[in-house]
Amino acid sequence: MAEWYRQSLRDVPHYLTGIQHSGDGAVIADLSLNENRLGPSERAVRAFGEAGSTLWRYPDGSHRLLKEAIADRFGVDPKLIACGAGADELITLLTRLFVSPGDEVLFPEFSFIMFSLNARQIGAMPIAARVDGLVPSVDSLLERITERTRAVFIASPNNPTGAYLTRGDLRRLARDVPSDIPLIVDGAYAEYVDGRDYSDGLDLLDEFPNLVVLRTFSKVYGLASLRIGWCCTGSGTIIDGLERLRGPYNISGPAQAAAIAALGDESHASGSCLHNREWRDRVASTVIEMGLHCAPSGGNFILTRFPDRETAQLAYQHLRGHGVLTRRLNDYDLPQCLRITIGAVADNELLIKALREFALASH
Ligand SMILES: *Cc1c(COP(=O)(O)O)cnc(C)c1O
Repeated sequence: MAEWYRQSLRDVPHYLTGIQHSGDGAVIADLSLNENRLGPSERAVRAFGEAGSTLWRYPDGSHRLLKEAIADRFGVDPKLIACGAGADELITLLTRLFVSPGDEVLFPEFSFIMFSLNARQIGAMPIAARVDGLVPSVDSLLERITERTRAVFIASPNNPTGAYLTRGDLRRLARDVPSDIPLIVDGAYAEYVDGRDYSDGLDLLDEFPNLVVLRTFSKVYGLASLRIGWCCTGSGTIIDGLERLRGPYNISGPAQAAAIAALGDESHASGSCLHNREWRDRVASTVIEMGLHCAPSGGNFILTRFPDRETAQLAYQHLRGHGVLTRRLNDYDLPQCLRITIGAVADNELLIKALREFALASH
């Protein structure tokens, strides 16, 4: 039989391998994908609906109004922004822009899996630098840089661990990564972080032209279905490269309209963050009361570690049996852990109840 596609692609796993939605019964609380269960701003929903009358038109391929709205909101230069169909598309484009087959793409262990998948898709080598506990180590990243390193990716906060780099560590990383190697800081959960010692990297763009800050409308803005992401850098050349590489109409008109409206509703985003903080603390306390390990998280999810993979699997099944879907992490080499998204009030209450029952049943 013809093999049709490149040999190197045959070893690349499908993105969804790690998520087997097994188990009987309805899912009542889907806490498996780090969505904002409070949904988007009503203004975004309205703008999306109004865009229905223009579906016959091609969207603005230059993303002009969207870039202006992002620039206003985040205090960056609209000429130094590129937009993509989700942060995912930008990770793909950035990898293709910087990396050739055989090159190395560096990131910390247990990083967001798309960094490694994108490297493998183009026949580059993913290199995972050791972490300290679950926290990325600047030193071990720097130690793994070689003459073949063509990009360094780091998610801060990271999915699935929740760990983020402090401002000091991010600054040191940006300073010590050689200036001809792009450093991509994925801030998909940046809005959720409440630590004062955090920097999303936007304040460092002027100083480090090799720095790229990546953001999304999928998480706190609650627009995951619309696929909108953006990145910003100090280097016009990187933006120019991305603009050459991307598809001409990569973000639909309704998606652009909804994103612009979402940026005009700050109280929605800040309300989601408050809700998240309160419930993340409560869910974390429950997990800790059960004697389990819960990594400190800057995102809208927690990472819970069970004594072993069998117990994690039993907990997953128990929660699933109660209608609560969590994320197993076999594909992240963390089979003893579950990632649990913070949901709406009823989701979180159901989760806490089911977790407590599991603790009782397993004593
Ligand atoms: C969810 C997530 C993304 C992907 O966001 P999209 O904009 O929906 O593609 C990127 N990075 C991290 C770390 C994420 O968790």
